[in-house]
Amino acid sequence: MKAVRFHGVGDLRVEEVPRPGQLASGQVRLAVRAAGICGSDLHNFRTGMWMSRLPVTPGHEFAAEVTEVGASVGHLAPGDLVVADSRATCGECPNCLAGRRNLCDRIGYVGEVCDGGFAEEVVLSAHEVIKVPAGVAPEIAALSEPLAVALRVVRRLDPKPGQPILIAGGGAIGGLAALLLSEFGFGPVSMAERNSARAALLARVANVEIVTLDQLSGYPLAIEATGSAAVLRTLIGDVAAGGRIVMVGIFDGEAVIPVNRLVEGEIELIGSAVFRDEQREAVDLLPRLALRLQALIGPAITLDAVPSAYGKLIAGDEAALKTIMRP
Ligand SMILES: [Zn+2]
Ligand SMILES: [Zn+2]
Repeated sequence: MKAVRFHGVGDLRVEEVPRPGQLASGQVRLAVRAAGICGSDLHNFRTGMWMSRLPVTPGHEFAAEVTEVGASVGHLAPGDLVVADSRATCGECPNCLAGRRNLCDRIGYVGEVCDGGFAEEVVLSAHEVIKVPAGVAPEIAALSEPLAVALRVVRRLDPKPGQPILIAGGGAIGGLAALLLSEFGFGPVSMAERNSARAALLARVANVEIVTLDQLSGYPLAIEATGSAAVLRTLIGDVAAGGRIVMVGIFDGEAVIPVNRLVEGEIELIGSAVFRDEQREAVDLLPRLALRLQALIGPAITLDAVPSAYGKLIAGDEAALKTIMRP
């Protein structure tokens, strides 16, 4: 079968690979129907960070049809549409045992520690997939993973009705967080996003007001979704005293920040890691959000076009919030 294979920094190839072998007990065989390219896939491609196994088939945001179930899989049947839970967790560390799986001591991701969804077929454990409600299209279902990340961000932000919110970065997570805030009736939401076509799309679909970073000041709540140290410094300088900044962007290295502003302004700087139980909630939200989500995804690409799509996304000139591959 065809698969996209990551061989090392800057080296992504479309190759013919053997189909996954016989199912073990508890496993399911999946025919991939739609897989999204994530900012973390691009980060891996540029830096090699997080990669523990090479070559590997990337892709952790995918919807797939069950084609075969292994022994002792009772709740799934061939024909079911499912999405992958992107997290591979140990199940044994104190955080896993306490239900904080996103903070697992040995967390890894599908597409890094095992082969992921940029392929025609994948085998996963049945407990690593979530069944999708009937009538949800695969390309919408594939958004459940980043939607869960955005839902976690909104939960960590903990907005009160009417509080103004600033989102720095209109990538998939910043954009989906804006969509959720709008859907839940929070905001007004302002967004700083350099890509003007993307900004216009989010203004229309997620009801954000587009601003530039030099216009900012006095927001009680902000989301850092760029991974840029300069943007983080600006947010810390301009957020209102007593304000809160949720960080979800991944940085290339360390950042110098005005720490005394945190102390003197009693500013909360808090992280948001993947998601905890939010993916099930995200899956349940899909029918309600489907029309608005559809407006945020670009035309589907083929598996062969994934490497060139990485280049386009890294260059930052893609208007759509999410590029979806359909094998
Ligand atoms: Zn992702
Ligand atoms: Zn663990």
